[in-house]
Amino acid sequence: MNDVPDGAGADAAARRSGAKYKSLVEHAVYGIYISSIEGRFLDVNPALVRMLGYDSEDELLALDLADAVYADPTDRNHAIAQFRDARLISGLEMRWIRKDGTPITVRLSGRPLHDEAGKRVGFEMMAEDVTAQHSLEAQLRHAQKMEAIGQLTSGIAHDFNNLLTVVLSNAELLAEAIPASRADAHMDLEETKRAARRGAELIRKLMTFSRTQELEFVPLDLSEQMRELSRMLRRLVPEYIQMQIVAQEPVGRIVADAGAIQQVIFNLATNARDAMPDGGVLRIQVCRRWIDQEHVVTHGWGRPGEYATIFVSDTGTGMDKRTKERLFEPFFSTKPSGAGTGLGLAMVYGLVKQHDGYIDVHSKLGEGTTFKIYFPVARDETASAVVPEEPTPRGGNETILLAEDEPAIRRSATRVLEHVGYRVVCAEDGEAALTLFWEYGTAIDLILSDMVMPKMGGRALYEAVRSTGAQVPFLFVSGYIRRDIGESVKLADTVVFLHKPWTVQGLLRAVRELLDRVDR
Ligand code: ADP
Ligand code: MG
Repeated sequence: MNDVPDGAGADAAARRSGAKYKSLVEHAVYGIYISSIEGRFLDVNPALVRMLGYDSEDELLALDLADAVYADPTDRNHAIAQFRDARLISGLEMRWIRKDGTPITVRLSGRPLHDEAGKRVGFEMMAEDVTAQHSLEAQLRHAQKMEAIGQLTSGIAHDFNNLLTVVLSNAELLAEAIPASRADAHMDLEETKRAARRGAELIRKLMTFSRTQELEFVPLDLSEQMRELSRMLRRLVPEYIQMQIVAQEPVGRIVADAGAIQQVIFNLATNARDAMPDGGVLRIQVCRRWIDQEHVVTHGWGRPGEYATIFVSDTGTGMDKRTKERLFEPFFSTKPSGAGTGLGLAMVYGLVKQHDGYIDVHSKLGEGTTFKIYFPVARDETASAVVPEEPTPRGGNETILLAEDEPAIRRSATRVLEHVGYRVVCAEDGEAALTLFWEYGTAIDLILSDMVMPKMGGRALYEAVRSTGAQVPFLFVSGYIRRDIGESVKLADTVVFLHKPWTVQGLLRAVRELLDRVDR
């Protein structure tokens, strides 16, 4: 015989399982709540209180959901209408606001509750905070977009470099061919060269953005850079803008390209100036900061460690959401045409990425903007060698094998080289060059080759020539930087890279230097 009545056993079991569920809800990592259709919390668990940053459950129970919890009060009503006939709600993403005002993104799942008459009276829901996850996804999307734009840009830059090389070198050749008495023609040519150089400068900016520009990294002190730059900035920023530069604090040394750092500050300061047409305060601050694991989780970016940072703040117009989303895109500008190129921040982005740094932007419409740039502090500091300027190049009577697919560049280079006495043998791709090399053999003193050519590229040509045991020196011409070309071309004494667009001086100097080096 059972001495415990059946009813009591069922009660105890119910109590036990009730306690179990209560514990489950109390200790859940997800926010769990019951809300009324009118928009009150009827029951909440501690995780929800934490998620929303309140001090107690009672505080939450006193709130009006639509007004105090939803970032946009109409969102809740829209959602309720959207799920009118649904028996389950899952994966609904909403913007909520914490007690301190910071927005969070939550993913809501649950079900509607009905009374006996079948009328919907409330909701039983679970809320997951997906803010960090979202900002990581946004970062990734942004990075992918920038990567694609970067590739596109470097492709365009490459073609433009070829065109500018032709323009520049032909203008130089013409200048020599035209008698000095034709001062007017010489002036026209000067103008042509200036325009081509301006074009080359623009391309350089684009390449910086797309990470194909070579930088010279040396250990340097950010505060020192800032102090050096301050006088120049004073000239850039008009009197009606108050400028505060704070760079006293010693910050760790970073490994950086001084020109790039100055360019970053310069571009940010220019934008700050443009954002304050009626005056304001431009504040530039150099300081040290640490990024810790918590920062990485809450911001969705960064690597833990010590950073030397530059904060550039203005009290100007600030930016709306649309501008904030696109500001780093090349050619994105809200300024009237002629005033803005849209390349300033694209450059900043490219340069900071090349320094393994980070950019953080805070901006509020009507209140101003702060750009925070983080550069990782270097652990071990290495000194760099200074390359001295070469004297004006001489010509020579050596034979040069020229491999270049672009006919106009081939013509210009041939004329430039022949002009100072070299003998030139031309090939329109790597294969043709290799055939010529077999034909001429040791009569070839130097191979001047483009990197990217049809049939056989510069690198394959190099490998084919070296495989015969020939040590003939190579001068590669490329719009790209060395590390993009491939690791297998080891930089021996007999290999030199020349950047496009080359100038007559630059080409002749590189050729002579390489020939002299090998002769010795
Ligand atoms: P540009 O200055 O040539 O327009 P940028 O790439 O430097 O190009 O900047 C892109 C856009 O970002 C600007 O046109 C402007 O709308 C916005 N912007 C950049 N910096 C600021 C700032 N400090 N305050 C307000 N808007 C800014
Ligand atoms: Mg700008």
